[in-house]
Amino acid sequence: METGQINVKTENIFPIIKKFLYSDHEIFLRELVANAVDATQKLKGLASLGDVKEEIGDTTIEVIIDEKARTLTVKDRGIGMTAEEVKKYINQIAFSSAQEFVEKFKNEQPNIIGKFGLGFYSAFMVADKVELISLSYKPGSRAVRWVCDGSPEYTMDEAEKQDRGTDVILYISEESIEFLETERVRSLLEKYCKFMPVEIKFDGRIINNPVPAWTKKPADLTTKDYQDFYKELYPFSDAPLFWIHLNVDYPFHLTGILYFPKLKGAYEIQKNKIQLYCRQVFVTDSVEGIVPEFLMHLHGVIDSPDIPLNVSRSYLQSDPNVKKINAYITKKVAEKLSELFRENRKEFEDKWNQISIFVKYGMMSDEKFYEKAKEFCLLKNTEEKFFTLEEYKEKIKALQTDRHGNLVLLYTPNAEGQHQFVETARSRNYDVLLADTLIDTHFFSHLEHKEDKLTFKRVDADTIEHLIEKEEKKDSVLSKREEEQLIAAFKEQINSPFFHVMVKPLSPDDPPAIITQPEFSRRMREMALTGGFSDKHFLPEEYNLVLNANHKLIGNILNEESKTKKEELINQIFDLALLSQNMLKGSKLSEFVKRSYSILQGENIQKGKIII
Ligand code: ADP
Repeated sequence: METGQINVKTENIFPIIKKFLYSDHEIFLRELVANAVDATQKLKGLASLGDVKEEIGDTTIEVIIDEKARTLTVKDRGIGMTAEEVKKYINQIAFSSAQEFVEKFKNEQPNIIGKFGLGFYSAFMVADKVELISLSYKPGSRAVRWVCDGSPEYTMDEAEKQDRGTDVILYISEESIEFLETERVRSLLEKYCKFMPVEIKFDGRIINNPVPAWTKKPADLTTKDYQDFYKELYPFSDAPLFWIHLNVDYPFHLTGILYFPKLKGAYEIQKNKIQLYCRQVFVTDSVEGIVPEFLMHLHGVIDSPDIPLNVSRSYLQSDPNVKKINAYITKKVAEKLSELFRENRKEFEDKWNQISIFVKYGMMSDEKFYEKAKEFCLLKNTEEKFFTLEEYKEKIKALQTDRHGNLVLLYTPNAEGQHQFVETARSRNYDVLLADTLIDTHFFSHLEHKEDKLTFKRVDADTIEHLIEKEEKKDSVLSKREEEQLIAAFKEQINSPFFHVMVKPLSPDDPPAIITQPEFSRRMREMALTGGFSDKHFLPEEYNLVLNANHKLIGNILNEESKTKKEELINQIFDLALLSQNMLKGSKLSEFVKRSYSILQGENIQKGKIII
């Protein structure tokens, strides 16, 4: 029996390890199983070189709970350690790396990715005493037992152990008894060890898949294999839209599979769905900084030994490997989308609603992605037809170029709600785009900024003549004075600071009054609101009430002598304009309905004299 002191400055290290990363005590299990996996892989490596004399036999790692003895054991059939190796690797190396780790991170909060490096000594976060019994694969070795109760002292002596490998036995401490519960341990194994490369047995069954899809060659995988693997990762999700198999060796190592998920709600964007692994050991599901922000909604797995794990997030973003990984993923995603677009446009269009928000967001946040995605980013019109930007420009340029040479792209967020405006535009053979995702206003602004001589206008941004300004001008049948009278009469009746009343010479077939919302201020307001400003008063809604000088009813208002009749006409016309914009609600709507009935009754009584 040999006793010894682990190292200098030890008095304070165990309490630190114990308290360290309080919420992350559970990682001890990953660390110990990962060590067992390493030891097994090393043995297999040696065996393949012919350096192991005996049959290596079954190498299944076992995790065993003994409730009576209050122990949790991780048992492997790997290379094992001789007494000398225990001294070297456990007493010196493992200890000094644990000490270094604690020194480095005792001031950091638990936002360190991975928390790798604490290794073997993380066992002391949950155990009062740790026993390690090992038999090396080297011929003639004798088994060794190492025991440490968390004080700097350890004991080492010979042990009875027949089979090669290492048992690490944790005497679980009072405050950590949760790690003696089968379900708790099972869920930890499933979280951290699900894809470790050596079979792991717990509670009578193998809990891991040692050869997950991402470690195989794409050529060896079928569509079903990819879908099955997705189910394995997310048992409760719908089948994915498509996937990208990542595989790169230079200048960094990275493998993985990224899936485009099917979105349930329109904006149900879930982050923390990509899992990061390091050589099949689960590290984290928060990949911020590693995956480009606009692709954070993807699902799947990334496995890379080249992502520095013991650094804080802000540092991570400036790491050159991480930057390259970011660029690589972006490029792969763009290539995949472009391939889908070219190979099966119909299918791509069917999926467009699901992926458009991310493509648009990507184009806005990444210059390189913009250039690639321009070729497959689609615009959808109110007839549900799809166009690339170039195709669309070609389609509309004859009719929708204004007198300054700008191409004007018309859109509506809601073709039903803005039916009157859409129809008016269509009657001029203008095309109207459907812009029904939250991001569109931002996206259009971005396109205007990137592309030459291109503007977007919502169909209700102005009256039809002014939406796309052409040379020809219409004349008004009204005099300046009459226009002023009209404006005054409407202003008095409406009495709202949000409406600017104006008269324009529209076609006699256009409605008598139209409510428009100037593009610029509306868009600013929308962007402010979706950008997080919740203070609506910051940018109040502004509307134009455009009166059609050439409409008969507007003339009637001017000529009406009875004040009540005049007011009734104005109210009715204003309400109809509101109604066409879906803006007549509540008590105003009830008033309107009531007034309409009384007008209809009046019409009957006065024998066919038409008021409206
Ligand atoms: P790391 O795994 O990062 O090297 P650890 O503290 O976990 O650090 O382990 C230190 C060393 O102890 C390992 O590198 C390995 O040589 C040895 N070791 C730990 N666990 C085992 C095991 N189950 N079988 C064989 N060797 C082991």
